[in-house]
Amino acid sequence: MDKIVCSVIVPMYNEEAVIMETYRRLTQVMENFGESYELVFINDGSRDKTREMISELCKSDQHVKMIDFARNFGHQIAITAGMDYAAGDCMVIIDGDLQDPPELIPEMVKIWRSGYDVVYGKRKSRQGETFFKKFTAKSFYRLLRGMTDVDIPVDTGDFRLIDRRVCEALKQLPERSRYVRGLMSWVGFKQTAIEFERSERFAGETKYPLKKMLKLAMDGIMSFSYKPLKFASYLGSGISLISFIYLIIVLFQKVFFPTSATSGWASLIAVSLFFNGIILLMLGIIGEYIGRIYDEAKGRPLYIISELKNMDDRQSPRFKL
Ligand code: UDP
Ligand code: MG
Repeated sequence: MDKIVCSVIVPMYNEEAVIMETYRRLTQVMENFGESYELVFINDGSRDKTREMISELCKSDQHVKMIDFARNFGHQIAITAGMDYAAGDCMVIIDGDLQDPPELIPEMVKIWRSGYDVVYGKRKSRQGETFFKKFTAKSFYRLLRGMTDVDIPVDTGDFRLIDRRVCEALKQLPERSRYVRGLMSWVGFKQTAIEFERSERFAGETKYPLKKMLKLAMDGIMSFSYKPLKFASYLGSGISLISFIYLIIVLFQKVFFPTSATSGWASLIAVSLFFNGIILLMLGIIGEYIGRIYDEAKGRPLYIISELKNMDDRQSPRFKL
C-alpha cells in the first residue's frame, strides 16, 4: 500500500443528496493538490441510498474507502471511527454537506507542514442557518469555555486537520460520551486556527435536530467539567444555611412570642415547592453524571461496523471485525 499523506474523513448520515457533489469537490481539490490522499466516508447508519452510493464510488475510485456502521451511532462516534481507520500522516475531518469548504484543505496541509499539529477551522460567519442555531451555538461555546479548565476554542466545529500523533493520542482515550473537539484540546499539541466563512448546506436538511444538539452540548459540558456538581453543592449549602437561620427565627418566635407565629398554608406550600424543585434539579445533575459513569462501566465498543470497503487490511484499535 502506498503511503498516504492526507486522509479526509467525512461522516455521512442520510446525505444522498450531497454525496456526489461532495465527492466531486473533494476529488477536484485533492487531485489538483497532488499529494497522495484517501477519502474515508463513514456511513452512520443512513436510511436512504447513502450506503449504496458510497459503495459505487468505492468500486470506481480506489481513493474512496467506506466504513459502514451497523446503525446510527452519531456524528462524534463516526469521526472517531474515521480517525481509527485513517492511514494518512495527517487527517482532515470535514462535514459531508459542504458547509466546510474543501478548498481550504491545501492551505491547512501547508500550515501543518510548517510545524503545527492541529489546524482548526474557526467560523467567521455562518450562512444559511437560523438565528436560533447561531445564537444557541454561540452561547454554548462561551458557556463551555467558562465552565472548563481545558482551553476549547470558541466558534470551532469539527472541521480541522490533525497530525497522526494527535490521532494516536486520541485513540488512547476510551470514553464513550465523546465531544471530539474538546478531547483534541485536552490532548494538547501545537494548535492554530484558520478562519473561514461557513456556507449553507449544499442540499438536504440538518441532521442535528434540537435533541442531538442538546446531547452534544451535555456531552461537552459533562465530560469536561465538574462545575454543575459544584453548583449543586454550593446551592445546597447556601439554601441549608438560610433555612437554618430561618428555623432559629421561627423557634425563637414560637418560644418567646407564641401568639405572633402565624400559621399560613400559602407560605408553607411555597417553601415546599421551592425546595422540592431544587432537590429534583440537583438529583438531575447528579443523575447525568451517574448515567455517564454507567455507560462507561458497561465498556461496550464505541461502534459496530457491518462492512469495510477498500480498507480490509486495516484494524481498528477499538473493534475487530
Ligand atoms: N452526521 C452523522 N451522524 C449523525 C448526524 C450527523 O454522521 O447522527 C453527519 C452529517 O451527515 C454531516 C455532519 O455529521 O456530514 C454534520 O451534520 P449536519 O450538517 O446535519 O449538522 P449541522 O451542520 O446542521 O450542525
Ligand atoms: Mg451541516
